Amino acid sequence: MLKQKILSMLIAACLASTGCARTQGRDKESAKEKKQTVMKSKEEWKQELDPEVYHIMWEGGTERAFTGKYWSHKGDGLYLCASCKAPLFDSKTKFKSGSGWPSFWQPIDSNAIDLILDKSFGMIREEVVCAKCGGHLGHVFNDGPEPTGLRYCINSASLEFKSR
Ligand SMILES: [Zn+2]
Repeated sequence: MLKQKILSMLIAACLASTGCARTQGRDKESAKEKKQTVMKSKEEWKQELDPEVYHIMWEGGTERAFTGKYWSHKGDGLYLCASCKAPLFDSKTKFKSGSGWPSFWQPIDSNAIDLILDKSFGMIREEVVCAKCGGHLGHVFNDGPEPTGLRYCINSASLEFKSR
């Protein structure tokens, strides 16, 4: 009888802990799924995209400063997600930051991007991802110009420019 009681307690404890872990995972997933409408596996993206674009957007890579195709790019148009082609930034909000990466003070729409807390490399930063496909774009910092004071520091490889 006692044995049975201990056993059932163990099972309950076990269920509680795995249940909790699963709920946390699910919360994270559902938060992502809310807006995300393009669901592809990394394998699928790997087959579709340029190796560099794949590395930066789906393996969390960063292009070296002053090497991307858009850091000093000028032109009137929209910058789309290089993976799913969703419009992300307007050239009207692009500014010269001196960082060597394309910089914007505002996304085209607050629903176009998602922000995720990024604690890698011993820094606390906010990662910017495409809301539609979840691909990595860059980071946002609060040292940008007016009117938002924000600097969306984005990899050129994550973007595709389309003239207006
Ligand atoms: Zn996308």
